[in-house]
Amino acid sequence: MRKHSIYILLIFVIGCAGVPTRRVSMRASARYCPTSALIEVNELCKKHDMRYGFDTLDDVVRIFSSEKEMRLLLNSCVGYFDGGIIYLKRAPIYSEGKIFIPAEIEKIITSGLRVPFKPPFTIRTIVVDPGHGGKDPGAISPSGLREKDINLKVAKYLEAELKKRGFRVILTRSRDAFLTLEERVNVAKKYKADLFVSVHANSNRTKYVSGIEVYYLSPSRLNSKERAIKLAKMGSVWPKNIPFSARAILWDMLLTKNYAISVEFSHALYSTFKNLGFKVKVPLKGPYFVLRSAYVPSVLVEIGYLSNKYEEKILKRTYYQKNIAESIALGIVSLNKTYTRLARADAR
Ligand SMILES: [Zn+2]
Repeated sequence: MRKHSIYILLIFVIGCAGVPTRRVSMRASARYCPTSALIEVNELCKKHDMRYGFDTLDDVVRIFSSEKEMRLLLNSCVGYFDGGIIYLKRAPIYSEGKIFIPAEIEKIITSGLRVPFKPPFTIRTIVVDPGHGGKDPGAISPSGLREKDINLKVAKYLEAELKKRGFRVILTRSRDAFLTLEERVNVAKKYKADLFVSVHANSNRTKYVSGIEVYYLSPSRLNSKERAIKLAKMGSVWPKNIPFSARAILWDMLLTKNYAISVEFSHALYSTFKNLGFKVKVPLKGPYFVLRSAYVPSVLVEIGYLSNKYEEKILKRTYYQKNIAESIALGIVSLNKTYTRLARADAR
């Protein structure tokens, strides 16, 4: 019998009953989330007059009543509640025939808040990606200024600004070298980056067009379900004991989470640029491949137009390159502050 037909025979348990015996490593949950108290799902159901189901096919625990529904994934800190995503301090686990879920679930169910928690997220490692390089010069200004060189200079200043503020920074390239888009994205994966910032300079046939632009991934390009399945088939970043179907869900959740953070990230950069007096457009959805990395929240900053006479002149200047770099660093600091504040509020 083939493996998936065995899965079909597996049990979908409904009600406050025991679940079939299976082995799930408890180590997996420790990898994602800090500890907090756990309660047995059965107990919670009895107390709040709810029922639960456990789908062994995809490791999803469904806790529901006629009005409410929560879906949790074993060994994952991300779940769904009444249509919104929730982030837990600790992942549900399966142990000795029982499902244990974090005690905070009780608060979520009784408070009725739709999205009461923000992702546990602290920015430590940032990958800075100077666009283009080597045989690919990027945009070229009328006077011959090459985008790849400006991008690299600003990226190096950004590296210094971020290091000064205590972040770990990795450049996708630190010299004039050609890198494929995939290679750039893989750097983020390799170093387990929390953020990915791609630095570019713009060009337009219309010479008066100017200003800074910040892009985040367009959700239409994301096609998260399809992509989640594709990613689940590829080499996985999840522990090996997590089955294929669960990996697809984890990817789906990760994509959703990364998308949300990317949007917030782009807005943090926009506000910082604006407050510092730069001409900057409201963040836009971008179709760029480098933003399609599932591994990490990403934005792409177009630092100005090489085709614009004034911007070409200032983009050449060291002080301006440093100003741009410092503004991006300050934007990242403000985003980090928001998340730290939210994490503290959650802990209360
Ligand atoms: Zn470019």
